[in-house]
Parts: sequence; C-alpha cells; structure tokens
Amino acid sequence: MAFKNIIGQKKAINILLGTMARNRIPSAYLFAGESGIGKKLTAINLAKTLNCQNSREALSVMRDGIKDKNSLRITDHASRIDCCDECSSCKKIDSRTHPDFLMAAPEKGEIRVDEIRMIEEVISLAPYEGKRKVVIVDDAETMNPSAANAFLKTLEEPPPQSIIILISASPDRLPETIRSRCSRINFSPLAPEQCKEVIRAIDNQDTEITDSQLSTLSRLSMGRPGLAISSDLMEERDWFFNLFGEMSGGRNKETWADKEEMELWFNKAFMLLRDIAVLKITGKSDMLINADLKDRFAEMSKTIEMKDIVDIYGRLSFLKGYLGFNLNKSITWNYVTIIMQNLKLKTGVK
Ligand SMILES: [Zn+2]
Repeated sequence: MAFKNIIGQKKAINILLGTMARNRIPSAYLFAGESGIGKKLTAINLAKTLNCQNSREALSVMRDGIKDKNSLRITDHASRIDCCDECSSCKKIDSRTHPDFLMAAPEKGEIRVDEIRMIEEVISLAPYEGKRKVVIVDDAETMNPSAANAFLKTLEEPPPQSIIILISASPDRLPETIRSRCSRINFSPLAPEQCKEVIRAIDNQDTEITDSQLSTLSRLSMGRPGLAISSDLMEERDWFFNLFGEMSGGRNKETWADKEEMELWFNKAFMLLRDIAVLKITGKSDMLINADLKDRFAEMSKTIEMKDIVDIYGRLSFLKGYLGFNLNKSITWNYVTIIMQNLKLKTGVK
C-alpha cells in the first residue's frame, strides 16, 4: 500500500507530504488519534516513501529540496511524493525485514527501558541500505518511567538520518518533555462511507460481506475501521450485552478478566448510552450506531430519563479516566454494578 491508497486522513498525509516536499522532515513525529484509524499504516508508508528506490521525485526533492520555488508549487511536488510499493526496500519494510526500519510495541502492556536501548542502538548507526533510519513506537504512552527517561535522551540528541514516529491513542499520557520534542500530527476518525470502503477492501480478500453487515460493522466501528478488521465487533457487542444483562439484573459474576476487557466494557457502555440518548432526543433510529437493534433500543429508551443517562455517562467517564492508572478491578466492578442495578434498565437482550 502507498499513500495514495490510504482511505481518509488526507489532512494528516498532506502535512507529511508538505514537509517532505520542503525537505523539512523533523527528527521525531507524534501521530495522535484514536485506535484503528490509520496512524500505523501512515507511519509505515512514511518509512517506505523515505526509503523507496523508485520514487525519483520524492528522492530528489528530499535530497535537494525545491530549488526554484517560483516555478513549482510545493503542492505540485507533494502530490507526486509516494512510495512505489514494489521495490525491494518497500517490500522489506512491509515484511519488517528492512535493516533500517524498526517497529517497537508494548509487551504485557508496557514498553520497557530494554526496548528503548535497542531503538537507540539501531538508530545510532548510519543507514545500512536505505536513506533514513525509521523507528515506529506503537502505543508510545505505555513507556514506563525509566523507558521514558531513556527515550528523552534520544529525542534530545537525535542521530542524523533518523526519524522516530511515536504513535499514541492517549498522547496526554506521554510526558510533556517528550511531547514537546515531537512534531504532532492529529488523525481523526473516518466518515461512515470511508469506514465502509476500508472494511470492504479488507474483506474482499476473505469472505463476501452483505451490505447490511457492512453497514452494521461500519457503525459499530465508530469511525475506526481498524477495529472492525482487528476484532469481531458483533461478538464483542453480544459479550457486552450479556454481561450488561447480568450486571443490571444483579446476577453475580466475579469481575472483568483483565484491563483490556474492562476498557472494552466501558467503551461499549458509552456506545449504549449514546444510542439511548440519540433515540430519546431525536426519536430517529437511523442515527443509531446499533441501528440493527433499533427495537431493543426503543424499549430501553422508554425506561430511562435523560438526566439519568447524563449522570451515568459522567460517572463512567470519570472512572474511565483512571483506567491508565491501574484502577482496581474488583472495586470498580462493584461500583459499576451498583450503577447498572440502579439504572433498572430492561435491556430486552438475552
Ligand atoms: Zn519502493
């Protein structure tokens, strides 16, 4: 895949192309935005474009800059910068075997100092076969304090010909000292039609998907098609409704299995409250994320007052804000269960 094939994120990509056309590529980027909207894909394409062997336009502009600024507009150059997707460099980056390309990600929910040392070692050497060393740090906010400290030193003295791209869905959890040393690019959730396009493009390689399934998946992904690709959103929704039924009905279950499950539960609860609120305010089911379950949601919206929705939303948002700080699972479970029971919501879901 090349930049031209990425669906959505035109604004972010145009900023990147503009910096390449001006030959002003910073030594560190922070790609900020929700999960599943194309940050990593864009970062990989940046690495490919910077190292592509066939992209003459890109390479000459990046090497020499634009000499005659009057005769050619930056955007003309920018529009021609992309990777070829076919040369050995592009293919090696796609298969993660390029010696000048490294992707780091958390292990067991954390990026440790060893990982940062490895990054330092890799980028301290001159590029081996490419033009630039590119390191992508996914979920960068999971760096523990000693990793963040070590990483700060790398950012303060960036080795020449190296580019570090931090990716984060929670950039506010990164230390300010790190954020301030990165050039930040914001990524936004995709429009529903773009979501459909992404899901359809991926699904074509697998099974045939009906229009109504595509529409449901696109709505459930809430502008983040990567979620529809990486997990089974329908299954997750069933899981949530079952658990929600157990909680609000007072049936006992111990607690969430882990932090990921807990976070997923909160996100689904927000989706539920959002849909009930939309129905209460507009009465229109075509605006629901769960439009395929409109009858169930119509029932639910009758049994709850708007002020209660706002109150519960506020309480859950407050709790969710602490998820990054090792919120106690059992205590949170008990508290949330009480909220759900007070809600006395007849879910109508088995
Ligand atoms: Zn190439």
